[in-house]
Amino acid sequence: MEDVKTDLIVIGGGIIGLATAFLAHNQGLSVRVIDRSERPVGSSIMNFGHACFTGQADDVQDIALTSRNGWLQAAEKTGLWAAQSGTYIPAMTQTEMQVLEEFADHRGSEQVTLIDSATVADAIGNPDLNCLGGAHLPLDMRVNPREAAPRIANWLEEQGVSFNWRHEVRSTAHGIAHTNRGDFEAERVICCPNYFLTQLFPELADEHEVRICTLTMALIERPERIRSDIALFTGTSLARYDGFSTMTSIDALKSELAQREPELVGCIANLMATGITEGLFIGDSHEYDLSPEPFIDQEQSQLLIDKATEYFGIKNPRVIQRWQGRYSDSRSTNLVLEQPDPQTTVLVVTSGIGMTMSFGVADLALNGQIPTRA
Ligand SMILES: Cc1cc2nc3c(=O)[nH]c(=O)nc-3n(C[C@H](O)[C@H](O)[C@H](O)COP(=O)(O)OP(=O)(O)OC[C@H]3O[C@@H](n4cnc5c(N)ncnc54)[C@H](O)[C@@H]3O)c2cc1C
Repeated sequence: MEDVKTDLIVIGGGIIGLATAFLAHNQGLSVRVIDRSERPVGSSIMNFGHACFTGQADDVQDIALTSRNGWLQAAEKTGLWAAQSGTYIPAMTQTEMQVLEEFADHRGSEQVTLIDSATVADAIGNPDLNCLGGAHLPLDMRVNPREAAPRIANWLEEQGVSFNWRHEVRSTAHGIAHTNRGDFEAERVICCPNYFLTQLFPELADEHEVRICTLTMALIERPERIRSDIALFTGTSLARYDGFSTMTSIDALKSELAQREPELVGCIANLMATGITEGLFIGDSHEYDLSPEPFIDQEQSQLLIDKATEYFGIKNPRVIQRWQGRYSDSRSTNLVLEQPDPQTTVLVVTSGIGMTMSFGVADLALNGQIPTRA
C-alpha cells in the first residue's frame, strides 16, 4: 500500500472530481486525487465554459443553484474567472419569442428577463441583428474551460490535497484504489471517470446505457465589439435543454426548426457561442457512439461557424482552433450516482451539462443519501 491513508480518494481530475475534492477539502477531509493524465485534458477543457443553471429542468434547480454557489466559492478561493453575465437568447421568429415568454411566465423575473430587440442586439454586439426581441437568463455564469479545472487543481495542491497524476486506476472497491503504480487506501472513494466508466465499472455503464457523445467545436477570433463574457443561445438550444422542454410551444418550435434549419437539425445541433479573452467558442453538433471515430466533418464545422457568425454579424471569421469534443451520455439518465459498496461512490454526469452541475452533483455524492447496492 502506497503513502498515507486519506479520508477520501477522488478518481478523476476533471471538473466533477475536482469539484468533489474542493468541497471535501473545505469540509476538512484529507483528500487524494488520482488521474491517469498528467493534468486536466478531458471533457472539462473541451467545452463552452457555460454554466447554464436556468436551462436545467425544474426538478434539478436546487442542485443547479448549489452548483452555482460552488462555482462562486471556487472563484473566490482560487481566483478563477467566473462572470455572472447570464445567457442571451435572441428570438428570430414569433415561435421562439413565444417559448421565451412562456419560460419567463413559468420561472419568473429573477430567472428570466424578456428584453427588446435593441437590447439583445446591443448585448451580443451586433447592431444589425434582425431579431424580434429575446431573453436574458441573469443567473447563468461563464467560466473559461481552459483555466477552471487546472486552476482548481493547482489551488487544491497548494492547500495540501495530494495529487497522483499519471496513475491509472485499474479497479476500486471497499476503500482501496488499485492503480498501475500501486494501491491507495481511503475511508471513501468517489469515482468521477466520465465515459471511462465503461472501463472502471462496465456493468454500471451498460446498465445506464453509457455512450460517448462527440461534438464539433471551433474557437474563432472575437471582434472587440463582442464581449468576452458573452453566452448566446439560439432556437436549437431552446429545443435541446430540459428546462424549456415543458413549454407549451416547444413542439411548434421543433417543427419550425425542422423546416427552417434542416441542416442544423440534421446534425443534432445546439447552435451556441461563448466568449473568452482569446476568442469565441462556436458549436456544436452531436453524434453518439460507444467507440466514436475522431474525424471532424469539415462541412458540419463550417455550417456551425456560418450560422453562429450570422448572429454576430461577423464576416470572414478567422478560425483559431477546431476540435472534436467528447462527453459521456446516456439515453436514460443525466446522472449516474451509484454506490457499488458502502465505501465506493460512482459519479458521472451523462449529458452535456457537467460544467453547470459539477459542484451540485459533487455535493450530492459527498453529502447525499445514496442507496448501497451491495
Ligand atoms: C464540446 C463540449 C461542450 C460542452 N459544453 C458544456 C457547457 O457549456 N456547459 C456544461 O455544463 N457542460 C458542457 N459540456 C459537458 C462537460 O464538459 C462535461 O460534462 C464535464 O466536463 C465532465 O467532467 P468530468 O470531470 O466527468 O470529465 P473529464 O474532464 O473528462 O475528467 C475525467 C477524468 O477522469 C480521468 N480518469 C478516467 N478514468 C480513469 C482511471 N481509470 N484512472 C485514472 N483516471 C481516470 C480522466 O483522465 C479525466 O481526467 C460540454 C462538453 C463538450 C465535450
